[in-house]
Amino acid sequence: MCGIVAYLGSKDAYPILINGLYKLEYRGYDSAGVAILDKELSVYKTKGKVSKLDQFVEDKNTGGSIGIAHTRWATHGEPNTENAHPHYSMNKKIAIIHNGIIENYATLKEELKGRGYTFNSETDTEVLANLIEDVMHNESCSLQEAVLIALNQVVGAYALVVISEGEPDSLIAARKGSPMVIGIGGDDDFFIASDATPIIEYTKNVVYMNDEEIAILKKGEPLKIKTIANKDKTPYVQELEFNLNALEKGGFEHFMLKEIYEQPTSIRDSLRGRLRAKEGVVSLGGIVDYEQKIVHANKIIMIACGTSWHACLVGEYLFEDLARIPVEVEYASEFRYRNPIITENDVVIAVSQSGETADTLAAIELAKEKGATVLGVCNVVGSSISRATHAGSYTHAGPEIGVASTKAFTAQVTVLTMMALRMAQLKGTIPTSRFMQLLHEMEAIPDKVEAVLNDDGVAKQIAEKYQQATNFLYLGRGYNFPVALEGALKLKEISYIHAEGYPAAEMKHGPIALIDKDMPVVFIATNNVIYEKVVSNIQEVKARNGNVIAIVTQGDKVVRGLADYVIEIPATEDMFVPLLASIPLQKLAYYIAVMRGCNVDQPRNLAKSVTVE
Ligand code: GLU
Repeated sequence: MCGIVAYLGSKDAYPILINGLYKLEYRGYDSAGVAILDKELSVYKTKGKVSKLDQFVEDKNTGGSIGIAHTRWATHGEPNTENAHPHYSMNKKIAIIHNGIIENYATLKEELKGRGYTFNSETDTEVLANLIEDVMHNESCSLQEAVLIALNQVVGAYALVVISEGEPDSLIAARKGSPMVIGIGGDDDFFIASDATPIIEYTKNVVYMNDEEIAILKKGEPLKIKTIANKDKTPYVQELEFNLNALEKGGFEHFMLKEIYEQPTSIRDSLRGRLRAKEGVVSLGGIVDYEQKIVHANKIIMIACGTSWHACLVGEYLFEDLARIPVEVEYASEFRYRNPIITENDVVIAVSQSGETADTLAAIELAKEKGATVLGVCNVVGSSISRATHAGSYTHAGPEIGVASTKAFTAQVTVLTMMALRMAQLKGTIPTSRFMQLLHEMEAIPDKVEAVLNDDGVAKQIAEKYQQATNFLYLGRGYNFPVALEGALKLKEISYIHAEGYPAAEMKHGPIALIDKDMPVVFIATNNVIYEKVVSNIQEVKARNGNVIAIVTQGDKVVRGLADYVIEIPATEDMFVPLLASIPLQKLAYYIAVMRGCNVDQPRNLAKSVTVE
């Protein structure tokens, strides 16, 4: 998954392009490149991050008011300079940037080689550059017509922009399966990007491209959109709502830390207008028309990947506990390839921060084919998943830039909690007094999250002590089991320490063999009906000289007596504990990663949204 930016207008293109790439680096950062048209079409690219590209072009001519740029996360061909985008076509008159995968690139490449084309890279993208050149040559047509004809021969996913020396006043963009937004500024300015962050400082007027659409951007002319079947479409211009401040670090050392500290606000934003405890109201506008479908569902299938999958596990416990609706939680990548049993009476809930996760999108299509009702829970407004689903609820957590998800996770859990509470109300599965009590407690959660965040001391001490560990175990039961999984994932992602999450009682069936004096074991051991059982599990670890770090309820004495370190969180309903307990675990992972000198916001090998399968 890569980041693309393009500009056409009256300003100097390079500063706009490079700043845009910095904002999109979360999508990939193994190489970067830029193509600028100033009489001649020049392409500059380097292996490494955007800052390397910026240094590399210092002594080059980057003048010109039209250009395209790319930050890459390789799918085809290793991350090196040759494979970096933009890719020239063979005659060097056309250049292209691409996010996605051309699945039939090998066949097309063979055909083009047969017609004398040569290639400088191993990418699927370069094939498209040559295919467009070939069509232009054979059909003597415009760039726009050539892109249209070429795309009709392509199987796969793309968000792409093409620039041609022969048409110095235009850019052609197209999208299928990968995100793309076009900004329309004053002074005939056009901006294109994978998401709106590079655009917002210039204009709030944007057009989100739909699948199989081509955009024709020409200096001095209004934006034109066509389908790849060559039908004209009227561009739907909408106004962006978020502001630039939300995208900056705001005094924090890393985006991840800023996002951890934003959680009282992001959870409040998720709840805003949806939960009104005094009036006994919990209502999610986006799914109102589908409430009866959910209430009468045979079963709910929750589909997601990574951290969102952990949010779904919390969702499973909530829906079954509160609304008595059976739930299955599936990895999207498994679900889509295993002929799952889904009927028209099932409801699928797809959860994704970016709303662009390729496997989740494919799973949604499969569920829709089988007749299920499909709802989405996404953070990014206008994202592919939000449009592919029948209905859904946004998490409203604001842009999440840190690659390791934090505030998006708690916002997902918040939305799923509200859904489960609403279903319980409609089904009458819990008494009104209990329902009211839960609404009031949910309303108090952002303040409790704030209290957890204010209490910083121990997490740093623990990080100090265990920063050199090579393995960690995270254990929890019930609602705390998904918290253990998420805690382990956070540590792995950003500190590169191997960590495993397990249901605490399962420890005896394997992981206990790992425990020795060097093994830190993190228990989420809050006060609930299985507290005593978890205490026994802690004893078992201590008996084998393991180091115990425990997240406990304020005032806890028993675990405090056993554990090496305890982190207290305020008392709350068991079902809301994930919203509090996940926060010290995010901080623990963060501090350890910083102490180990890791790149917290851009961990190696990862990218923010996984838009390839
Ligand atoms: N397939 C292209 C490449 O490998 C783009 C990668 C992507 O967008 O994920 O360069």
